[in-house]
Amino acid sequence: AQVLTQFDTIAAISTPLGEGGISIVRLSGQDAVKIANKVFKGANLAKVASHTIHYGHVIDPETNKVIDECMATVMLAPKTFTRENIVEISCHGGIVVTNDILQLLLANGARMADPGEFTKRAFMNGRIDLTQAESVMDMVRAKTDRARQVAMNQLEGGLMTKIKAMRQDLLDTMAQEEVNIDYPEYDMDDMTGQEMKQKAISVSKKIDELLNTAQEGKIIRSGLATAIVGKPNVGKSSLLNYLTQDDKAIVTDVAGTTRDTLEEYVSVKGAALKLIDTAGIHETSDKVEKIGVERSKKAVDQADLVLLLLDSSRELEQEDRDLLEFTKNKKRIIVLNKNDLGQKISPETIKKMTDSPVVVTSVLQKENLDQLENAIEKLFFKGIENSADQVLVTNQRQASLLVKARQALAEVIKGVDDDMPLDLVQIDLTNAWNDLGEITGESAPDELITQLFSQFCLGK
Ligand code: GDP
Ligand code: ZN
Repeated sequence: AQVLTQFDTIAAISTPLGEGGISIVRLSGQDAVKIANKVFKGANLAKVASHTIHYGHVIDPETNKVIDECMATVMLAPKTFTRENIVEISCHGGIVVTNDILQLLLANGARMADPGEFTKRAFMNGRIDLTQAESVMDMVRAKTDRARQVAMNQLEGGLMTKIKAMRQDLLDTMAQEEVNIDYPEYDMDDMTGQEMKQKAISVSKKIDELLNTAQEGKIIRSGLATAIVGKPNVGKSSLLNYLTQDDKAIVTDVAGTTRDTLEEYVSVKGAALKLIDTAGIHETSDKVEKIGVERSKKAVDQADLVLLLLDSSRELEQEDRDLLEFTKNKKRIIVLNKNDLGQKISPETIKKMTDSPVVVTSVLQKENLDQLENAIEKLFFKGIENSADQVLVTNQRQASLLVKARQALAEVIKGVDDDMPLDLVQIDLTNAWNDLGEITGESAPDELITQLFSQFCLGK
């Protein structure tokens, strides 16, 4: 049974600061209604039905000064985001007014919320698990529709449900083994050993399936790090310009992001491409192009995807061969550009040298650029149409815990094979169970939880 923890009442501005039609100040906690009532004149919020909205004014109780005309939404526990009493005051916006309202609430008994504290309470009060909490953050940061859909799916508990089922599986086996240890006269050891092993194998398989989604999940969540390389004059800047044209460019809300920073995001088939070292490509002066090789080596190192451009209207040169060589272990697409100028390098020639997909384009004439996009999609997104409804592992925290759980299960299998005493095997089984629990937060240490929520933005 879930015991609701009683926390103090917190307040924060939950809409982005700045100009906007309305902004919302949110209060959560046992005294949310009481505190809101002190500054809200209109309906008596203590008497209204839950989940109703009321017109009124926010007034400073000390000076009787009217701060703003507002709507107050009252949502009583437990059917709220935090499972606590929540009051949301929607006001006319403007940074000064919104801030004044927040300050009034703080002066009347609320405490300023920490970043992510509303979501943390939803977690502490058992409304969501850690994977769902993480998805709240992902939703805020999602750069493409696909990223948003995956986060939404996770928010609805897709990953949590799978992890919980695996944990239950392990728990059943552990419980059964406990019985064995307590009643050895039944002498069922052999059978249970084999059962533990089978269970470890089947849960490992499920973990592998999830881990297979991790690359796709990471890419959807944080973007596909992409390096555009090629000798001078092959069309890198032209391709970059095409990719960053207005309908493709993703405007990030990261402070200080401008066109000349080293990272730009573009959307290709609903996935975010994080273009690496675009400053190096934007620069076209000879000097920069000369130091370009060292620089592109660095970009290639960081890349999930390399787009290697060759000028197909000229014979392969040593520089092309060098680039082909040093990108050969990367996921890459070879782009035979300047197709409009005639073909000195054929796709067949390149295909003899590598398994990497080859696309023939003219960036200048905007020919076959859709084929390039299709090739990117094919290389990284297998279940493209349905990946939005798929359960994906979306971050490193989840992935490394899955790996840890799988290792513990490998020990279980080995232990049974080596005829180890089952109470020792049981320890590894318990470890796997704990690792999985850390993903959902059921067995996560406090520091981890604090650290995780501190990455959230204020008001969430
Ligand atoms: P970079 O040095 O690799 O960045 O190459 P740029 O993008 O600056 O292109 C060098 C020159 O090639 C420019 O004059 C471009 O307009 C031209 N160019 C780029 N792509 C094509 C193409 O597909 N066909 C033709 N004919 N010219 C191109
Ligand atoms: Zn260039």
